[in-house]
Amino acid sequence: MLMDKFHTDMMGSLFGNPHSASQSSQQSTQMIDDTRLQLLRLFQADPEEFDVVFIANATAAIKLVMDALRDQDGGFWYGYHVDSHTSLVGVREVADEHRCFESDQVVERWIGDGCEGAVKKAGLFAYPAQSNMNGRRLPLRWSSQIRDTAGPPIYTMLDAAALTSTSPLDLSDSDAAPDFTALSLYKIFGFPDLGALIVRKEAAHVFAKRAYFGGGTVDMVVCLKETWHAKKTGSLHEQLEDGTLPVHSILASRAAMDTHAELYGTLDRVSRHTAMLAERLYEGLQKLKHANGSAVAQIYKHETSDYGKRSTQGPIVAFSLRDSHSKWISNTEVEKLASIKGIQLRVGGLCNPGGIASALHLEPWEMRDNFSAGQRCGGEHDILNGKPTGMIRASLGAMSTLGDVEKLLSFIDEFFVDQAPPKPQLRFSAVRNVAPRADWHIEALTVYPIKSCGGWQIPSYTDWDIRPEGLAWDREWCIVHQGTGVALSQKRYPRMALIRPHLDFKTGKLIISQHSNATVVSVPLSLDPSYFDPTDLKSHTTQVCGDTIKTRIYTSAAIANFFTDALGVPCTLARFPSPTLTDPSTRHSKPQLSKPSSTFGPSPLLLPNESPILAITRPSLNALNTFLKLHSLPAAPAAQFRANIVLAQSSPAGSETPWAEDTWQGFAVASDKGVEGASLDVLGGCRRCGMVCVDQTTGIRAEAGEPFVSLAKMRRIRGRVLFGVHCALRGSAGSVRVGQVVEPVNGRESE
Ligand SMILES: *Cc1c(COP(=O)(O)O)cnc(C)c1O
Repeated sequence: MLMDKFHTDMMGSLFGNPHSASQSSQQSTQMIDDTRLQLLRLFQADPEEFDVVFIANATAAIKLVMDALRDQDGGFWYGYHVDSHTSLVGVREVADEHRCFESDQVVERWIGDGCEGAVKKAGLFAYPAQSNMNGRRLPLRWSSQIRDTAGPPIYTMLDAAALTSTSPLDLSDSDAAPDFTALSLYKIFGFPDLGALIVRKEAAHVFAKRAYFGGGTVDMVVCLKETWHAKKTGSLHEQLEDGTLPVHSILASRAAMDTHAELYGTLDRVSRHTAMLAERLYEGLQKLKHANGSAVAQIYKHETSDYGKRSTQGPIVAFSLRDSHSKWISNTEVEKLASIKGIQLRVGGLCNPGGIASALHLEPWEMRDNFSAGQRCGGEHDILNGKPTGMIRASLGAMSTLGDVEKLLSFIDEFFVDQAPPKPQLRFSAVRNVAPRADWHIEALTVYPIKSCGGWQIPSYTDWDIRPEGLAWDREWCIVHQGTGVALSQKRYPRMALIRPHLDFKTGKLIISQHSNATVVSVPLSLDPSYFDPTDLKSHTTQVCGDTIKTRIYTSAAIANFFTDALGVPCTLARFPSPTLTDPSTRHSKPQLSKPSSTFGPSPLLLPNESPILAITRPSLNALNTFLKLHSLPAAPAAQFRANIVLAQSSPAGSETPWAEDTWQGFAVASDKGVEGASLDVLGGCRRCGMVCVDQTTGIRAEAGEPFVSLAKMRRIRGRVLFGVHCALRGSAGSVRVGQVVEPVNGRESE
């Protein structure tokens, strides 16, 4: 609807750059003036008392105020509430003095004591109207209280980006209003990507000291011989909107305001609707209990908040989940499963460092420790030393429905509520020990010459070299994005499965084909420069799983075209350099392993996401397929798990031991016909994600999220969905072959 309206507006008139005299320019000026007024009216802000500045987003609005304060004589003092969004926290870096207020009481006491702290300096106090972490709403009265205290002036900035997405904001009393109000229009309307700063005109004088000027905010500039300029003196927005205005975004925001009103009525109506939904979600989460009576959700509600009271709480629920032993479930694991089920959650640090630290009781030293242990914003390592380092956030908006709330609750109920006491047979080390000495052997060996692309089956009767970095020719190449240099993965580009590399030792070539394409490309297998023209490759740095690695990229246009056509993104082939004795770590897909182990800390939870060799066992796959069959779901072929080694057992039917690999410390491949065997260490279980849903023969991800969804039900160990084990060669060289007998070594601690 909004798009239709915007389209009609765009087709109906020509909007030019507003700083000219042409008809189209005048039209823009008119439209922008009208939109400005409409936006002020949305917040009952009198245009006599307030002005609005269009700007990229709320962060840019905050920085505009920051710039003005930095340019005050003597700098400025900055106070901010602990619940502030990262974008408010960052202002402290340019302040001369700053203070973080750790609670509402501390703010109130400070106000009661006359706002001391800012001596002979301009001051700025900033806080969010609603926490973007858990949706709690903070008192709006602080702005006027701070203004009413005697002493040096302290300006107030209200970050209303989260609040206004689902709530009205009333600026009708300009004496009580914040001096600066930062907004993200896209959070209210979804489109366009635009922010705004509402300025109380009484406080506009702070901007007079702003040093910078740009095209649009200056009347005359002299550059040669003298440097002199005259800033615009008209309305405040003319002085602050540097450069060309985002005319078409402003036009779209007008359409957005109209459409929003048509669809939802007022922001107050949105507020009532979303509050009702949030209360249902909050109560529903609280009611969830495991069969043993323990709570499932830990909800991070502020003590002053009440889901029944809109002035204290917005329609957001922040929480974490625990299993029936009260162990935390990894947030990213919940997110992975939710996204497969079509539920959008936000997890992690939520851009709210102070709020997260106080809600999770994380001390600064713990956060620094976690950082050194590899925790990063958006990373997988979200439970460190038994504590979550982030949370799950469910936000409700104008378009959310009761059905959405029910869907989220039943999703959690289905996957994370332990219905019956945990079945002891899932951990049957006892059974395993009495099982007959199992007769394991190598059923299949596969290499993936190009990372994330199709596999190449190693022919039987062939001895295959195995090295510390993996099976020979495994992940020797990768496909990189031509713009960013990032190595592509099947997670983003499932069609990579359709790219089939073939190792042809007769011709000494890697031949690459793709089933829907008659073209075939090939590159020499050897890295020996005498085999090809060195101009065929150029050095390049590539990002593989977040680590920077040196690669050699192919310069051939035919190769680039082949991969670009196959995947529909501008990309080409690159080769990893061979590992050398002095630098074994340059080898590709295993950056995590090459890190000194101390960076990962002692926690056994921190497993490498990739490893030299991935092994799965046929009995475990059979167990999964039995489960799938029981639920009338199609069986999962071994190829979907992209293992290098498939191990099978030749025990009589019914006496197989699925999940035996959970307790393997390693396994030894027996010597065979004069060929020396190899010993492999098991590094840990392989943590799975939605990538196992990609059918490797069609490159299509299963809509229903199978078999990941079923795997998540039957194989969740400490919150992680494990299938297969990561392994590495012990020693420096060896070889393996299909059919060889394998002897497992038990004794690894169950994860
Ligand atoms: C989203 C948000 C921001 C940042 O807004 P941008 O428009 O992305 O710059 C700042 N503060 C709060 C409370 C937010 O919710």
